[in-house]
Amino acid sequence: MGAYGGRVATRFPPEPNGYLHIGHAKSICLNFGIARDFGGVCHLRMDDTNPETEDMKYVEAILRDVRWLGFDWGDKLFFASDYYEPLYEFALRLIRGGKAYVDSLDEEEIRRYRGTITEAGTESPYRNRSVEENLDLFGRMRAGEFPDGTHVLRAKIDMTSRNMKMRDPLLYRIRHATHYRRGDRWCLYPMYDFAHPLSDAIENITHSICTLEFENNRAIYDWLVENLFPEPRPRQYEFARLNLDYTVMSKRKLLQLVEESHVSGWDDPRMPTIAGMRRRGYTPEGIRLFTARIGVDKANSRVSMELLEDAIRDDLNARAPRVMAVLRPLKVTITNHPAGEVAWMDAPYWPHDIPREGSRKLPLTREVFIERTDFHETPPGGWMRLRPAGEVRLRNACLLRCDEVVKDSATGEVAELRCTRLPDPPVKAGGGKRAKSAAIQWVSARFAVPAEVRLYDRLFTVPDPEAAEEGKSFKDYLNPRSAETLRGCLLEPGMAGAPPGERYQFVRHGYFITDAEDSMPGTPVFNRIVELRDTYKEGRIATAAAPVAARPVPSFVEPAEKAPARAGTISEERARARERDASLSRRHDAYIRDWGLPPALADVLTGDASVADFFDAAVASYPNPKAIANWTANDILRELKGRTIGELPFTAGQLAELVRRIEGGEVTSAAGRTVFGHMMSGGGSPGEIVRRLGLDRTYSEDELSAAVDHALAGMPDKVEAYRAGKASLLGLFTGQVMRLTQGKADPKAVQEIIRRKLG
Ligand code: ATP
Ligand code: MG
Repeated sequence: MGAYGGRVATRFPPEPNGYLHIGHAKSICLNFGIARDFGGVCHLRMDDTNPETEDMKYVEAILRDVRWLGFDWGDKLFFASDYYEPLYEFALRLIRGGKAYVDSLDEEEIRRYRGTITEAGTESPYRNRSVEENLDLFGRMRAGEFPDGTHVLRAKIDMTSRNMKMRDPLLYRIRHATHYRRGDRWCLYPMYDFAHPLSDAIENITHSICTLEFENNRAIYDWLVENLFPEPRPRQYEFARLNLDYTVMSKRKLLQLVEESHVSGWDDPRMPTIAGMRRRGYTPEGIRLFTARIGVDKANSRVSMELLEDAIRDDLNARAPRVMAVLRPLKVTITNHPAGEVAWMDAPYWPHDIPREGSRKLPLTREVFIERTDFHETPPGGWMRLRPAGEVRLRNACLLRCDEVVKDSATGEVAELRCTRLPDPPVKAGGGKRAKSAAIQWVSARFAVPAEVRLYDRLFTVPDPEAAEEGKSFKDYLNPRSAETLRGCLLEPGMAGAPPGERYQFVRHGYFITDAEDSMPGTPVFNRIVELRDTYKEGRIATAAAPVAARPVPSFVEPAEKAPARAGTISEERARARERDASLSRRHDAYIRDWGLPPALADVLTGDASVADFFDAAVASYPNPKAIANWTANDILRELKGRTIGELPFTAGQLAELVRRIEGGEVTSAAGRTVFGHMMSGGGSPGEIVRRLGLDRTYSEDELSAAVDHALAGMPDKVEAYRAGKASLLGLFTGQVMRLTQGKADPKAVQEIIRRKLG
């Protein structure tokens, strides 16, 4: 039984001064997720205590976005602005108890009196006003007798506290401004540090989860609720805020982008807002998957855009039918196909590994269009698409040979290819060798549907636009090529009636959605949601990439439920568990001393006997404590999500077996992660999963050599740089080949081949 009798109430408290962004999504998923996992409730509270910037249109956008993300607040929608009266009463109680006073220093003086981290602050000359004087002044502040900035209400705590936040924090300020909900009724507004904890307490919140910047504010939080509320009181927990590369996440900065028309609005598809992502075509499921993968962390870090895009792709993969689109068309005449004749080719909407059925017929005619980039007159080595006298397969249709390249006499540009349709080669029994050509997309010239297609790229050119150089602002790093509109794209005939908001995979291009605003029947407009992973694009090896590893997820709820009244951080809680249980404490020290584990890992493994037991059992069966510790802490604990380690669908011995196979080089670590994903979802022996997924297959010398050719062909400038002496590029080349082989090749063998080829 925890401090709240097992009750869990969280809240998501946005300020309605802008649209929600992907950082908020992390907080929403966390707060609503905890409520769901622990049978509790999550309140949605507008933290609207600042009259100058808040607006009803933002409230409406917030409600829309939270709902779209898939969360339901039921009847638990609240506004801090509804608490102005009770908050005022709480302030009076503090004043009467001698715990708050009206200060009449100005802003600058208040700052000076506060001192520094190394110097104690100085008490304000107004600090010892009598209760009567304070009550009188505070009442007149409310009545509107004083202009802005003349007086503030402060908590009387400790001007010498080491925690600067505790040096008599401000509780109220005067603002003669019209509030979007309360109008001109108030000219006295509570500060965040006052309104937030008390709103939590008024609503009987149990877990108040906020970002790390507020760690030092926790002392004020506790001071206020302890002075004004009986137990059980809400408690604050902190987690790392999300920072995503190549974008900004401050509402103030996003507002600037909107107001200065750098983007078309809050829902511009390049914006990191939920509304922007919705318009871009991201799915709520994909965003939730992303937040689950990044987990919850106690240390601030940046997350790469690929992680978000991977989650979106993984979600879209199973829901977006494959269709053909040619974005930059090049005309092809199939000279042995009679004019006027239409051959209807059967084309499945889904690839083989997705258990869904459905197909359509595509018309093959004498004139078709292919992608301009699928033809190269003087292709680099390893080119597998069309070239003069070369062959290529039109996907779902036939093999073509290019006989003649027709050029525009004025520009010299390739204007048309004249090709011959070849008979299909007989299928070899037993699989045989892979065809040397790729399968490219095409559309019939006669039946194609013209469309506008909008391609989006990163909004900024640098990973961290907020870390601007001297004299520059984040806006100096806006990417001038973040949006590109292609007109005259050609789609397969069925796409004429694509409904708004429908998502497709344009084969070899990426995922696209019909734009909800601008698309018309007959003239569809598409937004590119996300590109395909590089390995898919060339139509070579197409299996899903390994799941992405994230950081350990400490549970916010667990410690408080187990702890006596005053739990601290999760690590403090583990330290307390070791104080209570000598065996945990012994193991903690032994892990560091005898096995050389980093203290942070030893800490994570010894906060709970069932975790330490699991770890010990795994090490007993494969004595590599460091590797096992990393897997246990970084992979297993992160994925528990409220379960205990005993509820896992596999045993410690099976984890040990997986780690042994990886460490022994039997499977690569990328393949190992895939196996781990299967163990987490379905349980079972790693050996069997490896066999079932074919992860133990090896690549022949020839296959590896082809993969190397392919990888090098894609990076001619890098190859040149390597030859000119930049040996460090070997790693890049190897990585590319490893990706092509889904991590199954032996990296040493790959390097051998690369060295030989470039030698
Ligand atoms: P800004 O500083 O840009 O105005 P904010 O954090 O003040 O953003 P709020 O509307 O107050 O915006 O945020 C509501 C909730 O969302 C808060 O609990 C906050 O902790 C959380 N939140 C905001 N930004 C992030 C982020 N980048 N990652 C995780 N949580 C976030
Ligand atoms: Mg805020």
